[in-house]
Amino acid sequence: MAGRNFLFVPGPTNVPDRILRAMHRAMEDHRSSAFPELPTGLFRDLNKLFKTSAGQAFIFPASGTGAWEAALVNTLSPGDRVLAPRYGQFGHLWIELAQRHGLRVDVLEVEWGEGAPPDRIEEILTADRQHEIKGVLIVHNETATGVTSDVAAVRRAVDAARHPALLYVDGVSAIASIDFRMDEWNVDLAISGSQKGLMLPAGLGILCASPRALAAREQAKCTRAFFDLGEMIKSNATGYFPYTPAVLMLHGLRESLDMLFEEGLENVFARHQRLGEGVRAAVRAWGLKLCAKAPKWYSNTVSAIMAPEGTSAGDVIDVAFRRYNLALGAGLGRMAGKLFRIGHMGDLNELMLLGALAGTEMALRDAGIQVTPGAGVAAAEESYRSTAAPLAARPSPDAQQPAAGAKPSRAKVAT
Ligand SMILES: *Cc1c(COP(=O)(O)O)cnc(C)c1O
Repeated sequence: MAGRNFLFVPGPTNVPDRILRAMHRAMEDHRSSAFPELPTGLFRDLNKLFKTSAGQAFIFPASGTGAWEAALVNTLSPGDRVLAPRYGQFGHLWIELAQRHGLRVDVLEVEWGEGAPPDRIEEILTADRQHEIKGVLIVHNETATGVTSDVAAVRRAVDAARHPALLYVDGVSAIASIDFRMDEWNVDLAISGSQKGLMLPAGLGILCASPRALAAREQAKCTRAFFDLGEMIKSNATGYFPYTPAVLMLHGLRESLDMLFEEGLENVFARHQRLGEGVRAAVRAWGLKLCAKAPKWYSNTVSAIMAPEGTSAGDVIDVAFRRYNLALGAGLGRMAGKLFRIGHMGDLNELMLLGALAGTEMALRDAGIQVTPGAGVAAAEESYRSTAAPLAARPSPDAQQPAAGAKPSRAKVAT
């Protein structure tokens, strides 16, 4: 098929050409004397990304799931209780992983479409007078439902209960796209992966551990081998790894972090907010509903859109791919068939999203979902126009020799 595939699943995301080029290189010796410069810079800059000075970042050749596992097995012992609200498929999978490691998970069921409930967490922790609960597991951005939770509020709940549990946060589809503040929120274990906001292929599981988390490691008895932070700490101290690192991914990560810092993290977050608003405007114009139940849960990295009663989200996804070369995300777990997802994280701009929204709009109609042709695209266009940055003055053609007293011309935009 001519033209690019429109990849709008919420991970893997589009890999910018700049990162692809940075990764297109010959193999090298990961034990050479020159090698440590690369990881050392990455560890330093990952701390900037996680917004932590005291934390320690770890990079595993794995996916986000590996970082989930690393966070748990390095800090907990079989039989330990952890509290985990469940409001989507990723939280569900993390809970299952914890159970397979022999942890006792107090699952707090939350309606899918809502996020972590700080008041209920505070109640449960307050009632746990013996401090049996060792950890609280939160998915910052539940990619399956397009819901972002308030991690700061969860931290306040833990503090209000005067409870010593460690705070574990899955930031896989948040970090590098939505603001994340490890130190300010006192997060103990922050989890990320390479194929979402970091704009890389899948292949890295990234973990950041607080000093408290690293101290908990001394007592933790879960079996760990590949994911043992102890081996990592020893080797990383000199810029090496205990086993062969995914060197090309590390070069890609270098480029990714450079791009994020060049744009400015706060600008990256604002861009995602703006792009997300446009998608939500389109969904409203289609007369459809998001899975997220209230604006405070809206995710700036993924929109999960409910198929109306009697229609199939699977049909929308299928026709979008086969007819328009557009990849949309499917409903996961109990949302299978009920919703489809538009990913809007990573290397993305307005026109790319307008293309995806146009394809979605056509696919919706093809799947028998009545929406007004062009309505979603028009709403998103207006959202983007009304929030676009003001144009900088354009240099006039005779800018070389400005006439005395001449004013620079200024492009005007009609509103
Ligand atoms: C993608 C994702 C993961 C990790 O999945 P992997 O396929 O193992 O990379 C975990 N949590 C969330 C919220 C995710 O979006």
